Amino acid sequence: MTASRRLIDDCFLTDTERMRHDEALALIRTRLRPVVDIEDVPLASASGRIIASAVTAPRPVPGHDNAAVDGFAFAHADYTASDGRLPVSVRIAAGHPASFALPAGSAARIFTGAVMPPGADTVAMQEDCRTEETETATLVVVPKGLKLGANRRLRGEDLAGGATIIEPGTRLTPQDVAAIASTGMGSVSCYKPLRIAMLSSGDELLAPGAPFTEGAVYDSNRPLIAAMLAALPAEITDVGIVPDKGAAVREALAGAAASHDAIISSGGASRGEEDHLIEALEDLGKRHLWQIAVKPGRPMSFGQIGDCVMLGLPGNPVAVFVCFALYVRPALLALAGAAWREPRRLLLDAAFAMKKKPGRREFLRGILIDDNGGIRRVAKFPRDGSGLITGLREADGLIELPEEVEAVTEGDPVRFIPFGELGLPPG
Ligand code: AMP
Ligand code: MG
Repeated sequence: MTASRRLIDDCFLTDTERMRHDEALALIRTRLRPVVDIEDVPLASASGRIIASAVTAPRPVPGHDNAAVDGFAFAHADYTASDGRLPVSVRIAAGHPASFALPAGSAARIFTGAVMPPGADTVAMQEDCRTEETETATLVVVPKGLKLGANRRLRGEDLAGGATIIEPGTRLTPQDVAAIASTGMGSVSCYKPLRIAMLSSGDELLAPGAPFTEGAVYDSNRPLIAAMLAALPAEITDVGIVPDKGAAVREALAGAAASHDAIISSGGASRGEEDHLIEALEDLGKRHLWQIAVKPGRPMSFGQIGDCVMLGLPGNPVAVFVCFALYVRPALLALAGAAWREPRRLLLDAAFAMKKKPGRREFLRGILIDDNGGIRRVAKFPRDGSGLITGLREADGLIELPEEVEAVTEGDPVRFIPFGELGLPPG
């Protein structure tokens, strides 16, 4: 299917000089729409993909009442009317349903997953029963006290037939895949992966693996961004390192924009003499510098070149990591068709004290403290410094201090966003 899925022409335009964190997210949430087409995806490769239209169960799951254990099935009324001693009249294994109803007053030898025969409503576990042979029959002796419906799974108790089981915009988890498979569907309608190009910008940068030269900085942002993108439904093109020259930056952006849904860059995104990204973006399309009132936060550039979204991250690794998790990832998910999802927060006691400037939101690298086998407290990485990758590695998530907070005292409840809520593996 090829639908016309286009960006709003000026999706990143904003009048605010300094945006609050919430405003930035609201803009991303309301302006960005899916830009990718829809395709049928076999279930085996559907985990992590985004569902394009509601998935409805074509039949109930389980499809029939069945035994939850190996044992004996019977009508509870027959069981209570007798001394618990019932003749075994039939044997029913999984996948081999009986073609007739259970003869009144008898029990069926039954195995886990086998269809309950009409007339039976209760199953006794084989471990709780014993059998007695007579000349004419095998009798099962069922202990007292079994409740009606014991060890029986009901038709439709997991999923009702016709029920919506997955809403559009859901990113399929392995559990979702299992639910879809259980209804018998072999494929689902998903948004196609986003085509994303990524690049690093800076004359000082050197690709990891290259011999070190004086003054060089190894490019850690591209591997970081590539690894964070790997968790999204995306096909990645690595454009490499682009030097600090206007023409080179323009050429790289124009080339990538022609064949991608989004470009992610890091570095060169300020208004410095050696920063060419902004200018190139202005030449080729539209750019909007977002000054978000958060720390860590340098201005980020958002823009578009035709139908390609441009997300320009700062150069410092900590800012790259935090801005990717907070803004770039939600933006990409929105473009990829995912429904909006706020990261959930835990409320933990601060194991630190600090002063804070009001008016901006701060995100600290948070380290969970395990006291006697349980977690109630969070510490912050003690060093500042936007170049310290070490802090990102030690952290388990981000501590979020709202705009109005002016100080944190030890023991104050603080909001903590676990990395898992930001699509990152736990630290
Ligand atoms: P810039 O935004 O280009 O001024 O870069 C800010 C800081 O981040 C400088 O110290 C750069 O050397 C550093 N930086 C920029 N890009 C990268 C990168 N890809 N990997 C590691 N450090 C970077
Ligand atoms: Mg630079």
